[in-house]
Amino acid sequence: MEDTIASIATAVGLGGIAIIRVSGHRAKDILSRIFRPHRANRAMTSHRLTYGEVWEGERRVDECMAVYMKAPHTYTTEDVVEFQCHGGAVTAQEVLAAVLRAGARLAEPGEFTKRAFLGGRIDLAQAESVMDLISARTARAAHASLQQMDGYLSRRIHALQDKLLDTIAYLEATLDYPDEDIEPLTARRAAEEARAVQTALQEAVRNARAGRLLSAGVRIVLAGSPNTGKSSLLNCLLREQRAIVTDVAGTTRDVLREELDLFGLPVQLSDTAGLRSAEDAVERIGIDRAREELRRADVALLVLDSARELTPEERSLLRETSVPLVVALNKTDLNARTGVEDVRAALQGAQAFAILLTSAVTGEGIEDLRRALYEAALRGASPEEAYLTNERHVQAAKDALAALESAVTALEDRTLDCAALDLRAAWDALGAITGESATEDVIDRIFEKFCLGK
Ligand code: GDP
Repeated sequence: MEDTIASIATAVGLGGIAIIRVSGHRAKDILSRIFRPHRANRAMTSHRLTYGEVWEGERRVDECMAVYMKAPHTYTTEDVVEFQCHGGAVTAQEVLAAVLRAGARLAEPGEFTKRAFLGGRIDLAQAESVMDLISARTARAAHASLQQMDGYLSRRIHALQDKLLDTIAYLEATLDYPDEDIEPLTARRAAEEARAVQTALQEAVRNARAGRLLSAGVRIVLAGSPNTGKSSLLNCLLREQRAIVTDVAGTTRDVLREELDLFGLPVQLSDTAGLRSAEDAVERIGIDRAREELRRADVALLVLDSARELTPEERSLLRETSVPLVVALNKTDLNARTGVEDVRAALQGAQAFAILLTSAVTGEGIEDLRRALYEAALRGASPEEAYLTNERHVQAAKDALAALESAVTALEDRTLDCAALDLRAAWDALGAITGESATEDVIDRIFEKFCLGK
């Protein structure tokens, strides 16, 4: 029998209520040991909150609500008990300690969700979406995770797997009853089916970019010479935006990173601070650091002053930036000395995703700038069609694509038995996404990333 696990499920810190969650076969026994319902002798009905007190021996620990949820209709599919006690630093810890002393052990990160997966209530992709939902930084990202939690990704993957299975069955029937006349027809039809799955998967991989950006966020790096209006534009972009409240590790104002919600995409905008001190001795280091930031960006936003001529540094940035580049020709409210054509000429054949005229003073072009940054980040991927949401899904889809490619080749060579094996390999690769064919270490690695109490 598995251990009964317990953990504080709510965030650490001051708050009205904290929830302690317990799961496993001893949960009900633990409840009866430490919880005294206010109306004595009242039996606790499953899934109904009861008001009472937590006691340890003769000491009253807290006054709280408790609920017993009988297996299997619970989060973990096991018996679950939750205490809603007072929040803050002390009480929740004390209730947890009482639960542990009564026979539970402390849960590992993600262990509740892992049990839901092992209990067959959710698949691996759904489990991942729980974590994505918790860490979502925009409403749109949260909605996408909720959809995935509902099994959207898994349904799409299963549909493709079913197609493959039909084709495998069809091939195997021909292999069992070989017939020279039928084989070419079988091979052709199977190849068509395999290609259809291939096309659907290629599309999914293309759109996965949008899914990853929704959950992991977009890095946009602002670059440009001092005084071109980078900070002013940054402020324009941040204005009227719903502030993203969650703290991203390492994000502080002094490194000039800001978070913004760009039509639902969580964006981390960083200003290449180094370029600000271009006049002093640290110029070189500053520019190097800025270039490094630029290399790692999803999108570069180069801000130029339209009232000045282009400098040699700006010209080289235009030519050399390797990530999608959005150019803002700023200060259009002043007399222009550099226009869109000058920027185009300076690109010398390099590509800019968009060149826009902006003014941080009048607000001209700011909405277009926002739109251009959004499109440059997505590069044609559609967030509505993004059902692969992380690197693990994409890798599995790519493995499936490779196996499908080899199946198609085998079908062209009329080696039907090899093709059937390749199709099975593709089926397995897709199964890794939902967990049907995921290995134990992959499963462990996924749940390790969870937070405590989930
Ligand atoms: P940064 O050094 O690139 O961050 O530039 P700042 O945002 O600090 O702006 C430098 C100066 O240019 C400030 O005095 C701003 O008020 C001014 N400025 C910024 N954008 C515009 C603009 O669109 N039009 C005009 N006229 N002035 C601007």
